[in-house]
Amino acid sequence: MKSNIKKKTYQAIYRLLDRVSPITEDCGALCGAACCTCGGDSQEEEGLDYDLGIYLLPGEEKLFTMKEEWLKWSVEYAEDYDFPDSWFGKVYFVRCKTPPVCPRESRPLQCRFFPLAPHLSEEGRLQLIWSTSELPYSCPLITEKRALNASFIQATYTVWKHLIRDTLIFDLVEMDSQDREAAGVNYQVVYQL
Ligand code: SF4
Ligand code: SF4
Repeated sequence: MKSNIKKKTYQAIYRLLDRVSPITEDCGALCGAACCTCGGDSQEEEGLDYDLGIYLLPGEEKLFTMKEEWLKWSVEYAEDYDFPDSWFGKVYFVRCKTPPVCPRESRPLQCRFFPLAPHLSEEGRLQLIWSTSELPYSCPLITEKRALNASFIQATYTVWKHLIRDTLIFDLVEMDSQDREAAGVNYQVVYQL
């Protein structure tokens, strides 16, 4: 799938997000790194019925060789999944082989944004909300509505503001936002301008 976002832009985004984290302490210590470890091979072996992959945004795969030893890759077709109609062709999913250990500077964007998610208001305003994804674990940052670092919120907002200039990514955020509204999801705004 062709993205307008260049590799060097994704690299700059990674560098910006490398410098921030949701809270100052290691939030993985609060929950046993639930968001990293809940979708790994151990759960498959235990017969649980979820298998969380991390999908890459269109073009984000340019930052990887697909030979990383810590990642397992799946290539799927957007048409087969619940992606916007404008999406077609390959989408890349990764799963970590050694969670919660990974090269921090190489974490996919989806790992870096959590527990925040982008939302477009009905007036088209970009907002950051607590993630409303249905997950097989609970994130204490969300359940306790912990105060997040302002630097993390600001950097995440800046990145999403840039990312949604790409029509494919805009369509994804718009679709997710409309789905939330249609389902009456009670989302909570963390930040907006
Ligand atoms: S983001 Fe939430 S679920 Fe993930 S490690 Fe931090 S506290 Fe745990
Ligand atoms: S890439 Fe790193 S941060 Fe993301 S789920 Fe895997 S171990 Fe966790």
